[in-house]
Amino acid sequence: MNPFSYARPIAIDEAIGLFKQNSRYIAGGTNLLDLMKENVTQPEQLIDITQLPLHDIEDTAEGGLRIGALVSNADLAWDERIEQRYPLLSKAILAGASPQLRNMATTGGNLLQRTRCYYFYDAGTPCNKREPGSGCPARDGLNRIHAILGHSAHCIAVHPSDMCVALAALDATVIVKSSAGERRIPFGEFHRLPGSAPELDNTLADGELVLAIELPAEDLSAHSAYLKIRDRASYAFALVSVAAALEMDGKVIRSARVALGGVAHKPWRSTDAEALLIGKTADKAAFGELADALLAGASGFADNQFKIDMAHRAVIRALTDAAEAAVEGATA
Ligand code: SF4
Repeated sequence: MNPFSYARPIAIDEAIGLFKQNSRYIAGGTNLLDLMKENVTQPEQLIDITQLPLHDIEDTAEGGLRIGALVSNADLAWDERIEQRYPLLSKAILAGASPQLRNMATTGGNLLQRTRCYYFYDAGTPCNKREPGSGCPARDGLNRIHAILGHSAHCIAVHPSDMCVALAALDATVIVKSSAGERRIPFGEFHRLPGSAPELDNTLADGELVLAIELPAEDLSAHSAYLKIRDRASYAFALVSVAAALEMDGKVIRSARVALGGVAHKPWRSTDAEALLIGKTADKAAFGELADALLAGASGFADNQFKIDMAHRAVIRALTDAAEAAVEGATA
């Protein structure tokens, strides 16, 4: 590990003021420390933000919730307001990592965790995300866990978070701050596809600090399901995951949200595909139509073609679970 300096500010503006080239903010450290130990990243300064006043979950004036960036994944998943009003988020968080990791990991850090592509973590191999321009050995190498949507010639990695898949479906907003002031980023615009710059996972500017995530007021609690398919029953990243939520009028769908995880460089949504369900009876045929549209353009590699069919089936199953929960008044 390379030498680095360490600072622990107590005010938000102080933390932002300390940021300079090759600094990193650190909170739970559940991903960053691994990256440092594996020599994937070599920050010259760590700014420990754990003393900043970002630990609360608060009601917003609009009837939603504002989640401080330092709320732990465990505290967020078990918060009564989240369990009752946003159970999709609670289920997604509890599907990820392990209890120990969820106790340490923070909401803001979860957004910023990096891909688990094998080559990215092996500093002895080329990788465009770690070292731009060096190549992407995953394309012709081991690519079972890689992307089937939105990939580029430069990178086929996937975003690893479960929480972010639910936040995408819930239309969350990320609130960030830099020396230029605060701004709000719609969740769908926070993460990015790899394109020709896979070293960039998101649209944060250098030094911008995540302050909070806001959830809108709308209540999808009676109609949601999170389905995660993985190689073992716990402590594994998703091969495919689905966050699904429906607004129902009896068995007729008034609106739908579907986000996919494990398939792209960011949580994958299509509002055009979701619109296909409006006014339809909630059944397998309608869900299949949405799955066709959501996965239009999907293409795999030598080891991950199976994900296309798996994702199609997972969308139908998650929506079926959500619809049945709606009719029965329970969640999947
Ligand atoms: Fe690197 Fe992306 Fe290729 Fe993995 S898929 S080796 S992260 S460039």
